[in-house]
Amino acid sequence: MSSTKIVLNGSSNGRNLSRSMELFGRGQRVITGGNARLPVFQRPHPIYMAKGTGVHLVDVDGNRYIDFLNNFTTLIHGHGYPPLLDRLRGQLDLGVSFGGPTELEVEFAELLCDRVPYFDQIRFMNSGTEAVMYTIKAARALTGRQRIAKLEGGFHGSYDPVEVSLDSAPANWGSLSAPSGIPYSTGISESVLAETVILPFNELRASREILEANKDRLAAVVIDLLPQRAGLIPIDPCYLAFLREFTARHGIVLISDEVMSFRLSYRGGITCFGFEADLCAFAKILGGGLPIGAVGGPSRFMLPFDSTNGKPLVPQAGTFSANPMSMAAGIGAMQCLSEQHFQRLDDLGEYARSSLTEMFRQQRLPYSVTGMGSMFRIHLRSEAPKDYREAYAAPEQQERMGMFIWALQERGVIVSPSCQLCLSTPMSADHIDEMVASVRESAQMLEAV
Ligand code: PMP
Repeated sequence: MSSTKIVLNGSSNGRNLSRSMELFGRGQRVITGGNARLPVFQRPHPIYMAKGTGVHLVDVDGNRYIDFLNNFTTLIHGHGYPPLLDRLRGQLDLGVSFGGPTELEVEFAELLCDRVPYFDQIRFMNSGTEAVMYTIKAARALTGRQRIAKLEGGFHGSYDPVEVSLDSAPANWGSLSAPSGIPYSTGISESVLAETVILPFNELRASREILEANKDRLAAVVIDLLPQRAGLIPIDPCYLAFLREFTARHGIVLISDEVMSFRLSYRGGITCFGFEADLCAFAKILGGGLPIGAVGGPSRFMLPFDSTNGKPLVPQAGTFSANPMSMAAGIGAMQCLSEQHFQRLDDLGEYARSSLTEMFRQQRLPYSVTGMGSMFRIHLRSEAPKDYREAYAAPEQQERMGMFIWALQERGVIVSPSCQLCLSTPMSADHIDEMVASVRESAQMLEAV
């Protein structure tokens, strides 16, 4: 673990992390791997958080950070947003979950269906993984076909078919014109691999050939408009238009995974990109920080979930689906998220991307920035990647990224393990300036190693 040594010895910036270290030691005895969630694990140990207020986090040792992670883009209002807390406190007194529907789910569905005019109806679940899974089940039920196509490197949660080629590597990813389907978790069934078709992101000609060869067996094409693992680069409008036209022509359901991209505009990613998907999967900001997932679309695509005339084609349950706490938090978050908020977040996002790019240029640092709206990602390479293969980080590059992220933490900035950052509504240009200064110092430290 050379990265750990270099960073810890190089610059601890006076931060004491002893309680985090101790908790990780305790965790290792009773939680497999030490902590209960893969993306927050880091070497030498995760930082255990104690409290969040506005844009700030405080860890269990009392260190303060600006939170540019916002629980992986979820907390669009940052921490402890008063209107949301009021709603949650009110609901706490009434009950946290019931074995029956509540007025809140109707109210929230009305709010969302009014807001996103393209869809008529919605159903709630508990995570983005579930939401994507149910869109695929619905597509299979609607078409009677089995195969699904997804973009190479596209992350859509922990459901077997969409995990295929999530982390394919140069040794196994095959040619760009016909990417191989590579298992992510060990032991994935052969049938899942056979039913999953991998498309090269933004490569229209190659994707057309692959889709032509599979068109009669495809139930769905699953896309992300701003795929994080493919570099956080927006989908090309011509590529998107081609996918929309091709799927409509061949009766294939086009699924937009808006779990993260709903953050792109007041009416979500699809409106921002000016197209209509058949089904959308939502999560993250929709729950105001509490667990949530949702599927939305025009009524005819939502039909498989309809139980009013007997057993639905796709029975969707979930003990905590549409639980009143998540509904209350979601209503609180979304009611207080206006078009003006998005305009401000977009402007701040632009300011962050241009400030970072200018700083890298001035300091002659071989780094780049990608992203859109309130999200951006820093790459430890001078040219911004254009697809998953260019954004792919080999193990040595991952180690360098780990050092960089640790250095950022020591300078009071929390980001994702791939160095994705996102903004929250309480942030200002001052927070961005602080972040840019920390990125500069961390990069200089990394280049000096
Ligand atoms: N789709 C996308 C695009 C995501 O970014 C994520 C989570 N990061 C998921 C699906 C899965 O969501 P969840 O973690 O809520 O299951």
